[in-house]
Amino acid sequence: MNLKGKIALVTGATSGIGLGIAHRLAAAGAAVVINGFGDVERVLVELGQHGTRVGHYPADMADPQQIAEMLAYVEREFGGLDILVNNAGIQHVEAVEEFPVERWDAIIAINLSSVFHTSRLALPGMRRRGWGRILNIASTHGLVASAGKSAYVAAKHGVIGLTKSIALETASTPITCNAICPGWVLTPLVQQQILARVEAGASPEAARHDLLAEKQPSLEFVTPEQLGELAVFLCSEAAAQVRGAAWNMDGGWLAQ
Ligand code: NAD
Repeated sequence: MNLKGKIALVTGATSGIGLGIAHRLAAAGAAVVINGFGDVERVLVELGQHGTRVGHYPADMADPQQIAEMLAYVEREFGGLDILVNNAGIQHVEAVEEFPVERWDAIIAINLSSVFHTSRLALPGMRRRGWGRILNIASTHGLVASAGKSAYVAAKHGVIGLTKSIALETASTPITCNAICPGWVLTPLVQQQILARVEAGASPEAARHDLLAEKQPSLEFVTPEQLGELAVFLCSEAAAQVRGAAWNMDGGWLAQ
């Protein structure tokens, strides 16, 4: 797959799935702007090894104003935006009655509303240039629920609905919009959930095994690299008629 000449923005790409996708897009030749917090300098050096132009913009994805400034930065400094990967996301696990209102608001803002804001701002340029790909990193939790994850499940179901709406609004254009629904991927977001099990008394091995065994029949984690390959495929011309899909890569989670 050759993405030379394409410009990609991957939100929340300083670790985990977003970083895996950023690597594959850069390896395929795209210029890549990442967003997210943490050790940005190290990540930029690693990404730069693919030989394409890379950049970073530190927008807080909970803030529509900062999102607008980031989209303007990509347009101004890179000359446009062809591939938008909405990946930034957070998690909080607690029963509805105990769920902190501030965590609910943050999860809806970062995991769902940010997808609306980046998409509404990216689409006019994609329409002008006559090509575009929007990839929304949803989750198996966009299609089924788990106890304790009300905000996350609501946000991810919302992302899949939004994906379908955008896919219909762009259906007769060379712009596609799809969601990717990963099962368990061993990233910092999931490490926190393994740690919670260890703190509740499980051994690290049992915590990992039980987490997988409850949901993912393969008993193996999906990897950011595998998700990166799927993202590159969805950017290809072979995927030009994949529209509004919620494409799971989940070790069998949703087959049950
Ligand atoms: P991660 O914690 O490794 O990465 C999250 C990224 O988002 C980081 O780069 C972080 O800096 C960034 N981020 C967090 N809050 C932000 C904010 N307010 N503004 C900007 N950036 C912010 O998590 P991950 O597991 O790689 O998750 C990435 C996406 O994949 C999320 O949307 C998550 O819901 C989804 N997902 C993860 C799994 C999994 O098992 N790990 C499964 C399904 C879906």
